[in-house]
Amino acid sequence: MKGKAVCLTVDLDRDANIRLEGREAAGSIDRGAGTAPRYASTEKGLELLSGLLDELGIRITYFAEAETLGSIVCAGCLDGHEVGMHGFAHEDLTGGDGAPLDAERLSDILGRSSDTVADIVGRRPRCFRAPYMKADARLLGMLPSFGVRFDSSEYAAVAPVSLPYSLGGGLTEVPVSEGRDASGRRITGYLWPMHEGRRGPQDFIDLSAGVSEGVFTIATHTWHLCESRERGVMDAEGIAANLANLREVLTGVMDEGFVPMTVPAAAERFPPAL
Ligand SMILES: [Zn+2]
Repeated sequence: MKGKAVCLTVDLDRDANIRLEGREAAGSIDRGAGTAPRYASTEKGLELLSGLLDELGIRITYFAEAETLGSIVCAGCLDGHEVGMHGFAHEDLTGGDGAPLDAERLSDILGRSSDTVADIVGRRPRCFRAPYMKADARLLGMLPSFGVRFDSSEYAAVAPVSLPYSLGGGLTEVPVSEGRDASGRRITGYLWPMHEGRRGPQDFIDLSAGVSEGVFTIATHTWHLCESRERGVMDAEGIAANLANLREVLTGVMDEGFVPMTVPAAAERFPPAL
């Protein structure tokens, strides 16, 4: 018995991001001042999350989009955590939505993303998550040449033994967990519906019960602690309730015997079959 790990993975990207047709760079949902990217919710959410993680003594994995990373301030918030990459301007790296990417352009985006994380965090990223969870073979095949060894752009159903798996080329996948709830509806480890008020913490704790050994991976965005896609920027009461829900998920899963780990630590503890 090798035990159970929980990986909290957090996308650090522009507030309530949306694809803008025909453009590579993503925008933010228009709250009255257009669709230019905003970073206030992601910055505030990072500070709140950082406080919660310090209090609980948990180290997590961030997937930082380069422009966002360069636009926010949160002294010390990322210290001690794993910081991976998540595009330069939250591009669809499969080249969808009328913004096709040739291999040279894709390579350029990945290189600049890696450089930005290295410059700001002081360590070159070794983890990656694709914006919109959209990754294809060309993208995944290119990641190892940028020093990336761990990807988390896929979903995988929870199973009694849930292990990372190899994608080839020295790349290990630590997928976001998914499963079915008691009524048979699909539920993924993305906490999105909880932040939008459509699911409660217990739904995600129940999802973790499908894993007896291996890795359970949940995911969220820092902006989602402070801004609902549907209801807009939250008031203080809404933010406090939202943060309390996240705390309940984390403590509930830990109470079930899951040990919090970063993505590389979990992949090392549960190495994929070669
Ligand atoms: Zn994202």
